Order: sequence, then structure tokens, then C-alpha cells
Amino acid sequence: MSAIQPLLELRQVSKHFHGGGIFKQGRRVQATKEVSLSLGAKECLGLVGESGSGKSTLGRIILGIEKPEAGEVLFQGINLYGKDKAAIRAVRRDLQVVFQDCFSSVNPRMTAGESIAEPLKNFEGLTYRQTLRTVGELLELVGLKAEDALKFPHQFSGGQLQRVCIARAISLRPKLIVLDEAVSSLDVLVQAQILELLSALREELSMSYVFISHDLAAVARLADRLAVMQAGEVVERLETMEDIHCLTHPVSLALLGAVLPAEPVSRAGGMDAGT
Ligand code: ADP
Ligand code: MG
Repeated sequence: MSAIQPLLELRQVSKHFHGGGIFKQGRRVQATKEVSLSLGAKECLGLVGESGSGKSTLGRIILGIEKPEAGEVLFQGINLYGKDKAAIRAVRRDLQVVFQDCFSSVNPRMTAGESIAEPLKNFEGLTYRQTLRTVGELLELVGLKAEDALKFPHQFSGGQLQRVCIARAISLRPKLIVLDEAVSSLDVLVQAQILELLSALREELSMSYVFISHDLAAVARLADRLAVMQAGEVVERLETMEDIHCLTHPVSLALLGAVLPAEPVSRAGGMDAGT
């Protein structure tokens, strides 16, 4: 048994909501049910599942912003929902997030540079000059130009703006980034470029990711391990993505079906659809 403490550990975490809306009035939704998982340094855990399976709720629980009603979330050994607020604040900076909709997670009236500088201002007492230099370096690290700091969100393409959000997320050199559908709204080509960037940054900055997506193909490109969710529960896990063909749960198979072309089936009459 290794005594090394994992970077992140979830122990039997549960969270339910009471559904809103006229049809769901009072309905209890179990968004996360007794989820236990752990993540080591420099690891990428893929979290997949259909829409509504509880991925984002679990992501928010991991980020320390959605208190579960049961269970514990330990990040670097600190209980994120515990009493030691000073310790929680100290580890918070190591925990960052990138959401799908970057346009709504940046202030449209702030330049890219101002958005990226925000966490630096909150946590590091940098001078104006140091901040400028750091922002320029961060922009270059994500494949943009230092001058892009002066642009406003509407002046970027979706992929470029996602790079800005990634620059902001890495500005404090976090240990873990939760990527919630971070490439889902991008077209396939841009998606591949952002996945490549994330992969390179993980290596360069020795970060861990929780990569949340309904798209198993995207997850398979980045993750080392996999957890498949259904109705708030982890229904299947993989300790290595090399075992992706060993998935057996119906949800996994459905997600896998969307990824891999079906085996070529010889049809009655022997006609091939042609490619
Ligand atoms: P996913 O990210 O996999 O699509 P979510 O975590 O967003 O799933 O949602 C899981 C379930 O919890 C859904 O049924 C959703 O409607 C419900 N849910 C999530 N957040 C809330 C909330 N703040 N209030 C009520 N229900 C919620
Ligand atoms: Mg979601």
C-alpha cells in the first residue's frame, strides 16, 4: 500500500436537488449518489455520461462551490467543506475551472488581459508591470499573442476565447483544473487544437485535470482514467484508457457507439454502403 496522499479524494459524496418547473415540482433529483473517486498528481480523469447524469454537479462539488449533503471532498488533504477556512483558502488557488461557455464566463467589458489578471490580483501581490508581463507570458503559453491582452471578448473566435479562459485558469499555476465541457461548443478542428493545448499544458505545468464531457471521443484523447456516470452514480470505471474496448455498461456502450464506427457488417445481399 502506498502512503502517498492523492491530490483529490471524494468519499461517498451525495447531493440531491428538488426539481423546479411545473412538471418537476417537488421531484427529488439525486444528482450525485455516493460517488467515491481519487485523482493523483498529473493525472487526467475523464468524467462522461449523458446530459443530466450529474457531471457538472460533481464538478462543482470538486471545486468546493456545491456543498454535498453527505460525504467528504479532500483536496491536498484539506476537507473543502470543513471548518478550517484558512486552509481551504490556501488550497483554493490550486483548484481552477474552465467552462464550456467562455463568452459567459468572462466579463464582456473587460479586456482579455484584465480577465486573465483577475486571479493574479486576488492572490498574488504583483505590481502593474509584473502583471503585464505575466499576462503576456500566459497568452503566449496558450498560443495567443501578448498584444491580444488589449482585445475584448467579442474580438476573439470561440477557440481563441477558450484559450483566454485557459490562460486565466492556469495563471496561478494550479494543481487541478476542472474542465466542464470545455471543448464541447467548438467545431471538431478547433476542438482538436484545444485538446492538444490542454495536453501540452498538463505536461508543462504538471497539472491534473478532471475532464468532464458527454463526448467520449474528446475524453479518450486526453484522459488517463475514466468514470462513467448515470443518474448521479459512477456506473463504470477504467483505470487505463487502453481498456476502452472493455467497457460493458449500457451507458458506456451507448457513448462508445457514438465514438467508434460499428464493425463493418456484411449486409444481406452483400452490398456495401461504399465509403
Ligand atoms: P450533467 O452535467 O451531467 O448534464 P447536472 O449535474 O447538470 O448534469 O445535473 C444533474 C441533475 O441535477 C439534473 O437532473 C439537473 O436537472 C439537476 N440539477 C442540477 N443542478 C440543479 C439545481 N441547481 N437545481 C435543481 N436541479 C439541479
Ligand atoms: Mg453539465
